[in-house]
Formats: sequence, structure tokens, C-alpha cells
Amino acid sequence: MYDIIVIGGGPAGMTAAIYARRAAKSVLVLEAVACGGQIINTPDIENYPVEAHISGFDFSNRVHQQAKDLGAEFIFEKAVGIRAENGFKTVVTAKNTYQAKAVILATGSENRKLGLEDEDRLTGRGISYCATCDGNFYRNKTVAVVGGGNTALEDALYLADLAKQVYLIHRRDSFRGEEASASRLKERENVEIIYNANVTRLLSEKRLKAIEVTDKNDGSIRTIELNGLFIAVGRVPENQNFASLVDLDDAGYVIAGEDCRTNADGIFVAGDNRTKLLRQLVTATADGAMAATEAVKYVNGL
Ligand code: NAP
Repeated sequence: MYDIIVIGGGPAGMTAAIYARRAAKSVLVLEAVACGGQIINTPDIENYPVEAHISGFDFSNRVHQQAKDLGAEFIFEKAVGIRAENGFKTVVTAKNTYQAKAVILATGSENRKLGLEDEDRLTGRGISYCATCDGNFYRNKTVAVVGGGNTALEDALYLADLAKQVYLIHRRDSFRGEEASASRLKERENVEIIYNANVTRLLSEKRLKAIEVTDKNDGSIRTIELNGLFIAVGRVPENQNFASLVDLDDAGYVIAGEDCRTNADGIFVAGDNRTKLLRQLVTATADGAMAATEAVKYVNGL
């Protein structure tokens, strides 16, 4: 029996573990794949206080080490459900069950897909959702990035250093991501930004060969031959496994205020899977601190 189980080993979950351990609670972090969450794919974090530049990979490793040094236990299994029984919670994974007095849901989110025909088949055959993982395969080649958020802008900047030509395709005429990144991108000679357009068709043999891009204003179709397509159109919260226990909004986020308390007794939420106005690394870690503080109060009967 742990005091607190944290589901998800991203920045929110690992920060929650740090705060809960510093309050002398026993803590298990259950992580499905690898610690770090989506920030692990960010090549250069420039907006987190203290470090002007740090890779998402280094950031994650350092927070993970900090949590382990404080005594948080990490087990790499995917949590598939929670049962609330007799005043405690049983977290179910594919292999085991674990019990705790309180649970923090820090499951983050997964890649949103474009929903195009052949998108799944071509993933790993020219389509990628992670520029830092796969960018190196496209040295001196032609690639496109789809999206207008921070991930798309950062991916396009990263790929502009590697690829011969980068197209950035965005469905509107202004970016959702930070102006600082957009300005840097506009200065790059090997980057062409295509506004008000959608990728509407994937052309392939065994691998992706080209894409069709449809202009939203006049309906004209442009075919772009390329080697790689990086899809960065946002994320979908990973809350489906807990939907019977906690209230979700229409988009699937766990409904909770700044205190990170859900409607379910003893279940808290932290990070990108919570309803909130700003999803950033700094707000994810802030959530981790808050959720752990509230969970500690709950465990202490306060
Ligand atoms: P995001 O901010 O939700 O942006 C998604 C982008 O994809 C938007 O521009 C959206 O267009 C576009 N989009 C959505 N569905 C689409 C579709 N079906 N077809 C074409 N375009 C589509 O997602 P994100 O960039 O992955 O970022 C997620 C969160 O992480 C954000 O809060 C972001 O700020 C944060 N983040 C932070 C950092 C950092 O702090 N260094 C780095 C990366 C990400 P519209 O704009 O028209 O809606």
C-alpha cells in the first residue's frame, strides 16, 4: 500500500513525486513507456526559468533522477483502470494491481492524427510525429511539417538545420505558437510557409512520395514531392481509461480547477490532461506541485 500513486511519468507526474516525497509520503510512479512525456521530443526548451536552453531529453532525465534520489519508486507498466474500494484505490495495469490512499492522474496526451487515408500505414515510412526522433533520417532531403502550434514551429526550426527544404503547412494565416519561434522560422531561406492550407491526400508507393495540399481560400491543389511529413497538429488527452471514475469535459480533459482535485474522492489530476488555459512545461510542473500538495493533505486526513 503506497500513500500516493502517480499515473504518468512526465514533468507533471515526476514533479508530483518530488513534492510528495518531500512530504515524506511513499510514492509509486507508474509510467507506460519512458519517463519524460511529450517534452522528451522537444529539441530545445527556451521558456523554462533558470536554463535558457535545455533539451527535453536532458530536462526529463534530470527531473527523473531528482525524483529517484528522493525515494520515489518507478515501475514501467501502463495503468488501464482504477477501482475505488474500502477507502483506498486499486490501480490496475496489464500485469499487476497496486494500492494507494490517493492517486494523481498525470497521463498527459497522445499525438492527434490528421485522419488521412494511409496515415497509419505510412507512419514510419515517411510519416512521423517526432522531429527529434526521426529528423536525422531526412538530412539534405525535403520534408513538410503540418501544424501551427509550438511543436510545429520548433519541429520546423529543428528540421531546417538538417533538411534541404522544409515546408510548413498551417490551416490558418496566424500561428498559435510563440511569435519568437515564428519570426526565426520566417528568416530561414530553406523554409516555405504555406498558410490557409490543409494536407488533403498522401501519395505513396511503399513509402510516402508526395502530398496534396489544398488552399482553403480558392480550393486549388498543390502537389509537393517530399521524403518526409511531420505531423504536429496537437495532442489528445489520455483519460479514456479513467472516464468511468472522473468527470471529463467534451474534449476529454479531466475537469478540475487550480487545486487539481477531481470530482472523485482521493483522485487528483496534474498536467496536460487537466482542463486549463495554458498547457506548457511550467504549468505542468506547477500542477504536479499542487496535485501532490492536495494529495498529501488528503492522505493526512486534512
Ligand atoms: P497545439 O498548441 O494544440 O497546436 C496544434 C496546431 O495544429 C494548431 O495550430 C492547430 O491549428 C493545428 N491543427 C489541429 N488540428 C488540425 C488538423 N486536423 N489539421 C491541421 N491542423 C490542425 O499543439 P502543440 O503544438 O502540440 O502544443 C501542445 C501544447 O504543448 C501547447 O500548449 C504548446 O504551447 C505546448 N508546447 C510547449 C513547448 C515549449 O514550451 N517549449 C513546446 C512544444 C509544445 P489552429 O491553430 O488553427 O487551431
